[in-house]
Amino acid sequence: MPSILTHPAIPLALGATYGQRYISGRLLLAGIGASLLPDMDALGLRLGIPYGHPLGHRGFSHSILFALLLAVSAAFLYRTLRSSPSAVFAVVFVSCSSHGLLDALTTGGLGVALLSPFSNHRYFLPWRPIAVSPLDARLFFSAWGIRVVRSEILCVWLPCALIGVLGFLIRREPKAK
Ligand SMILES: [Zn+2]
Repeated sequence: MPSILTHPAIPLALGATYGQRYISGRLLLAGIGASLLPDMDALGLRLGIPYGHPLGHRGFSHSILFALLLAVSAAFLYRTLRSSPSAVFAVVFVSCSSHGLLDALTTGGLGVALLSPFSNHRYFLPWRPIAVSPLDARLFFSAWGIRVVRSEILCVWLPCALIGVLGFLIRREPKAK
């Protein structure tokens, strides 16, 4: 996986692009949660669920269907999230499904079960520029960790920041003369 700090770059870029009119603070927080939720499956490793199991790490919780189900469920909470149902659906779906796609851009692990539960095949994308983050947090403070942070800044944070800034500039209404 990219590190836990990097998945929220996607909802943050959406928030900067569309602004509070479409994405409330609550929805932005929900998007950040949705971008992190798939990695809860790493807890299964401690419970003895093997990595390659359909419910193992990078299994069902990293699939497109999981993101879809989560987004549909979240859309029912649109009043609580103070945004339209379509905005809630879109932000939660993009945030959650981007997690699996970012993992599929990494250099390590078993790949991502994007089509689970229909197939447990673990996919990588053809281009894998992101150094895989260690599952053991202690290893993050090492040469490996520095490699991870460098690749995540270049491949995720910089593009997301660029999109967010461009989106912010484009959506700003011209001042009345
Ligand atoms: Zn993951």
